[in-house]
Amino acid sequence: MTAAPHSRTGARVDRLPLARFTTLGVGGEAEVWFVSDHAQLAEAMAQPYRILGGGSNLVIADEGVPERVIRLSGPLAERDLMPDPALSDGDQIVTGWVGGGVPLPGLVRALQKLGLGNLEGTVGIPAQVGGAVWMNAGTRYGEMFDGLHTLEIATPDGLRVVAPGELRWGYRDSGIPRGHIVTRVRLKLQRSTPEEVLAKMTLADTARKGQPKMKTPGCAFKNPGGVGAGRLIDEAGLKGARVGNALIAPEHANFIVNLGGATASDVHALLDLIRQRVAVPLELEYELWPGGALGQATSAVTGFSWPVGPE
Ligand SMILES: Cc1cc2nc3c(=O)[nH]c(=O)nc-3n(C[C@H](O)[C@H](O)[C@H](O)COP(=O)(O)OP(=O)(O)OC[C@H]3O[C@@H](n4cnc5c(N)ncnc54)[C@H](O)[C@@H]3O)c2cc1C
Repeated sequence: MTAAPHSRTGARVDRLPLARFTTLGVGGEAEVWFVSDHAQLAEAMAQPYRILGGGSNLVIADEGVPERVIRLSGPLAERDLMPDPALSDGDQIVTGWVGGGVPLPGLVRALQKLGLGNLEGTVGIPAQVGGAVWMNAGTRYGEMFDGLHTLEIATPDGLRVVAPGELRWGYRDSGIPRGHIVTRVRLKLQRSTPEEVLAKMTLADTARKGQPKMKTPGCAFKNPGGVGAGRLIDEAGLKGARVGNALIAPEHANFIVNLGGATASDVHALLDLIRQRVAVPLELEYELWPGGALGQATSAVTGFSWPVGPE
């Protein structure tokens, strides 16, 4: 077996099927750059690229994507939850750096064990920290920006370290432009007890009862004007509809699941069917890579030179 090649700055570069990096388990090949420091990131970002997090909001084409796909790894996927004494104050804890590539579910579990609150509402979101911050993912019980103190973002002009107040963030939106990469964050947490944090997490988790447990990229469509998209799809008689190995979940009609071996074309066909049968216009919740007739095309970011060196 030959070892995967490395870039000039030492990033591991490998042509891989993207399906393995997504919660739907669908997606063809691309050149994947595993970057573990800022120098590698700058090199990776010098050509057209996409940043892939937990792949929990993506339907990636069976042909893959032509751009390089960046994955944060090594120290950019590690977490330092030690309170920073210079920034913490009483029960308000500010942690060390948490990498954008850190899986959110494990982080939320670790915070619960430490009795640290503010991110309980994000329990059950199968994202990475960077992707969850970029979308300001959350539930009615809380969202990512509830627990952020500082963000480090790789931009076309170099690294920026900003406070949340410097961004125009809002509902499921961080205000961070597409293609800018959330590399690390410091968390702002409230000292509590493991029991209290668990109680809040249980509340948020209970709201997920009834969601399918199979491979899925989450909700397919946004709720139009207060009406549940799932209810509209159900009323159109589409619960349980199947194309190839993709299925509209019998448990909840706003979820498309992969029964095993589904393709992106199967999923697109089901999305088309829903759009044809439901009278109300529906807006897609997840992103289609590399873009498509149904979703908003996601244009790849072109390369740039990075004048600011790593810290
Ligand atoms: C079972 C299930 C339940 C879900 N429940 C919820 C929920 O309750 N609430 C909710 O809000 N969402 C939910 N989602 C959707 C999804 O988890 C969120 O949208 C999440 O924010 C996606 O993060 P990700 O890391 O998986 O990003 P990806 O799916 O990998 O990417 C999504 C977008 O984020 C960008 N991105 C990824 N990483 C970074 C980074 N480091 N810096 C900048 N941009 C980045 C990508 O380029 C892409 O544009 C759910 C999904 C599933 C499968």
